[in-house]
Order: sequence, then C-alpha cells, then structure tokens
Amino acid sequence: MSRYQEIKEYYQTLKDQVLLDLIEYEFMDLEPEAISALKSEILDRVMDTKWIKAIDFATQPMSEEAFALFARRVERQNCPYCGQSERPLSASLIRKLTGQVIRVYRDYKYILGCPDCIMAKMKEAEDHNKLKGWFAFPMGVFETLFAFFYHRYNRRLFTHGHQTRDFYRYLRVAKAKVYYQFF
Ligand SMILES: [Zn+2]
Repeated sequence: MSRYQEIKEYYQTLKDQVLLDLIEYEFMDLEPEAISALKSEILDRVMDTKWIKAIDFATQPMSEEAFALFARRVERQNCPYCGQSERPLSASLIRKLTGQVIRVYRDYKYILGCPDCIMAKMKEAEDHNKLKGWFAFPMGVFETLFAFFYHRYNRRLFTHGHQTRDFYRYLRVAKAKVYYQFF
C-alpha cells in the first residue's frame, strides 16, 4: 500500500471534527501525501469545498512580505466572538490546567479574537486554574503559576496596543483555518 493510501485509509476513520482539528493545529507538520489525502477526504465527505481553497492557500510558498500582509488583513477583520472591528485582532494561547493528585491535564487552545474577548477567555481559564490547576504536586503548582504569568504577559501587550507573538505563531500554524474563517 502506498503512503498516500495508508494515510487516506486512516483519515477515513476520523470524525469530521478531528479532520478539522488537523487543519487547525497540525497542518504545517503534515507531509505532502497527507495534505493530498486530507483534500480528497474533504471532497469525499462533501464538507465545505472552501476548505480545499484554504488548504491550497496555506500550502503555497509565502514570502515574509506576503505573510506580513496576510497578518495585517487578519488584524482588520471583525472579532469572531463579539463582532467589534475597532481594535486589531490578536491571539493568545489559553492555558487551562486540571490537576489530579500527581497528574496535570492540559487543555491548551489558541484564541483569535479582539483583545477584550481574549482577556475574557483568559479570565475564565484563570478562574478554573485557581480552583483546579494547582491540585497536583509538584507540577500543577508550577504550571498554574506559569500559566498565570503567561496570560499576564499577553494581557500587558494588549494594554499597550502591541501584537502578541502568539498571533503570528497561530497564523503560521493555522493558515488554512484562518483563511477559511475570514476570507
Ligand atoms: Zn471580541
């Protein structure tokens, strides 16, 4: 069996949402055969064919200038959560932790939106972490503190009107998803 067929058969076993998560989080790490298999699987399932366009966009080589332009265009979109368009969009990794005695369960997710909506999601995660995150010894304590400072660092960038590194990181990782969402 060729590598392509092997991957395609594996993709056939995945749920729609898992395929979409691949496009969002692992897309840039996929080998060319996997990208072809993903496109073919999307077509077979007649999921929105705009995904094909988005994947093609994301797999084109892109100069740094073109990437910067793409980032500026994304910044000017309306916030997907509240619809505001006055402040540039940004992104942050939200670190949610659940400690269970000796294990820490990590729920990490990038949020792309306006600074206010991102900060609301951070607050939610912080409240959760304060209750549950530290409850694993010793890593839960360290990771809860780390998440707190991580969120705070990005919050300060928002307050000063600076763009976060997470924004560019997320755009690179999830180029296809972002293209699909906004263009
Ligand atoms: Zn918003």
